[in-house]
This record gives sequence, C-alpha cells and structure tokens, in this order.
Amino acid sequence: MSVRTITVLGSTGSVGRSTLDLLSRAPADWSVHALTANRDAEGLAAQARAVGAERAVVADEAAYSALKAALSGTGIEAAAGHAALCEAASADNDIVLAAIVGAAGLGPTLAAVERGTNVAIANKETLVCAGDIVTAAARRSGALLLPVDSEHNAIFQCFDHDHPERVTRIIVTASGGPFRNSSEAEMRAATVAQACKHPVWSMGAKISVDSATLMNKGLELIEAHHLFPVRADQLEVVVHPQSVIHSLVEYIDGSVLAQLGTPDMRTPIAYCLAWPERMATPSERLDLAKIGSLTFEAPDLLRFPALQLAMDALRAGGSAPCVLNAANEVAVAAFIAGQVGFLDIAAIVGDTLDEIDAPDCVTLADVMAVDAAARRAAAQATGRRLT
Ligand code: NAD
Ligand code: MG
Repeated sequence: MSVRTITVLGSTGSVGRSTLDLLSRAPADWSVHALTANRDAEGLAAQARAVGAERAVVADEAAYSALKAALSGTGIEAAAGHAALCEAASADNDIVLAAIVGAAGLGPTLAAVERGTNVAIANKETLVCAGDIVTAAARRSGALLLPVDSEHNAIFQCFDHDHPERVTRIIVTASGGPFRNSSEAEMRAATVAQACKHPVWSMGAKISVDSATLMNKGLELIEAHHLFPVRADQLEVVVHPQSVIHSLVEYIDGSVLAQLGTPDMRTPIAYCLAWPERMATPSERLDLAKIGSLTFEAPDLLRFPALQLAMDALRAGGSAPCVLNAANEVAVAAFIAGQVGFLDIAAIVGDTLDEIDAPDCVTLADVMAVDAAARRAAAQATGRRLT
C-alpha cells in the first residue's frame, strides 16, 4: 500500500482508539492529518504525538488552551470548534474515519463526503438523522461510504453491489445485549453499570446503553436502509447472542451469504482502511469448534420497545428517524446521569415521537431544526420522569 493520509474524527473514543491501534501497527503506510476529540485535550495530545499527526482538534473551544499547552514544542497544530472539525474533515485526506458519537458527527462527516473523500463511517447517528442528505452528497461528490459498524461491514462484504435486485433480504444480527433474559422488573431497576456491561463487545457508553435497549439495532436498520438499496420490509433482525455471524444477505435463489469473525472492531475497521485491498490485524481468529454452537432467536419487541419505535420511524420516513435519534440521545444522557430509569429511555423517545411533527428534510438546516425541536421536547419528557 502506498502512504495514505487519514483523519480520525473521534479518535479518543472506543472506535477511534481501535483505529489508532491499527495505524500504529503499520506506521509506514499512514500519514495522519488530524485527530479530533470532544474535550479530552491531554488524551488527544498524547495520541497526536504518538502517531505524528499534523493537527489535533477539540470540539469544545474551552479545551483549546489545554490542548495548545499539551502540544507546545511538538510542531503539532492545535485547533478548536466546529468549523475546525469540519476543516480537518474536508482537508486533503485519502480517507476519513468518522467515529464521533451522536448527531454531533454530522457536520464534519458531511464535510468529508462533500469534499469527495471516502469515509469509513462508524457514526451511525449521522446516517440516521440525515441519511438522505449524506448519501446524496456522496453520489454528487463520488465519495464512498465504507461501513465500519460490524453488521453493515458484514452486509457490505456479502452484498452484490452490481446486482442489488438479486438481494431479497438483509438479516441484521443482534447480540441481545445484557438484558436479553431479564424481566421487566429487573430492567426497571437496571443501573448504568449493568446497562453498559455488554456481554460481547467493549464500546463507548452511549452505544452500550443503546445495545441494552436494542435501540442500537433499530438505528442500525435505519443505517442499513441508507447504506444499501433495499426497502424497509427487506430488513430483519435476528438475535444471535454469540455475535459470531455479523449479518447475512439473502438472494433470489435462496442462497444466504454471511460474514463471520470474532467480536473485535479492528476487523471491520481494517476492512474499511484497506479497501479495496485487505490488511492484517491482530484480531483473535475464529475457532468454531471451541464456540460449539451458534444460537438464534426472534427479538422481543414487547420487552424492547425501542426497537419497535425505530422500526416504526424507519417505515414512517421523513424526519421521524431524526426525531427518534435526537430523543434517544437526550434520554440516554439522562439515564447515564442517573436522572431517569432504564425503561424511561424508550418511553421518552415514544413521547417525543408522539409530540413532534416529522416533516421531510431537504437541507442540513431542516435536519438541525428538527433535531433541536426533538431535543427540546425530549428534555421536557425527561423532566416529567425525573427520579
Ligand atoms: P465513544 O464515546 O467511545 O467515543 C466518541 C468520540 O467522539 C470521542 O472521541 C469523543 O471525544 C468524541 N465526541 C463526543 N462528543 C462529541 C462532540 N459533541 N463533538 C465532537 N466530538 C465528540 O464512542 P464509540 O463507542 O467509539 O462510538 C463512536 C461511534 O461509532 C458511535 O456513533 C457508535 O454508535 C459507533 N459504533 C461504535 C462501535 C464500538 O464498538 N464502539 C461499534 C459500531 C459503531
Ligand atoms: Mg453494530
């Protein structure tokens, strides 16, 4: 591979750190333009020094002076704020890895896509709240969206991109999360630590809670709808607790193709980084004889209403997914802060969807307006449920 330039948005997070781990194993192949974080100046500066980045950017302007101090004498440029994030994303990169959590990633991710840079996209909320805008921008600019999310990466590897009409169904696997076998009473009393203790994957707090409510799987159905040319009714979820099969694609002749692997995000990240080639990773190899059996079950939409809400939002279309996502971000933050209970998360999202009109969004400004209105409504719904 010739030397390629990369910017990692959200480098201090779980996906960001896995990405830097891969880059640091092949330093001669990569030139790091920029790394970005929300406000962890020290952590970001340490990463930027380790990979020899040209620039480090914090989203929060209040963290700028700490970043500048931490980088003094290194020659690495420090920057802060939303515009600086977008500038790093739309610089002359060969690839941008989008791993900011939440709709906060939309602006910088879209900036990279508009520039025509291939984007390895982990930041599913960007596709959920503005998928039509992002994919239209990609078509215009020629940017390719390479899915990092393990399920979508699996689908991408199995999908016949030249003949999408031959695909009849996409089956997205779900681990079922930490409460797969829990009663409603247990879920009502669930703590943040319990919700974040994912049985298979180690991830950031927000996506861990989303995996516990199964909202994550709902967001992933919406994400799949934007990444692959299939209708909502061709998307299905099956619970597969071992998380060995990362998703499946069914064809008109009844053939079903799947991608398998141990649960290590470095495998799908490496696929995106090396595309269209392959690169080696230290991911543990799959030992099927040791695993012994793979099991499957239908998701329980009554115990996990967040998945039903997301499926309904996908079918409703318009900006319903944007409302769903914004309300979920507010509700999950309130749960993590100890303000509401675990079951309140889906209730807050449901209340918000009932309350907010979800018009079609044509421009980014339309999306931002719906997102802001949904956050206000969700904050009020949260206020009514404060513990
Ligand atoms: P994380 O919380 O560990 O990291 C998030 C990153 O985003 C950090 O670098 C943080 O500093 C930055 N960030 C947070 N808020 C920001 C803001 N307002 N502005 C700018 N930057 C901000 O999250 P993660 O688990 O790495 O997940 C990142 C994204 O990837 C999410 O969209 C998640 O759904 C998706 N994803 C994660 C995994 C996983 O294994 N962790 C798997 C699939 C998809
Ligand atoms: Mg996933």
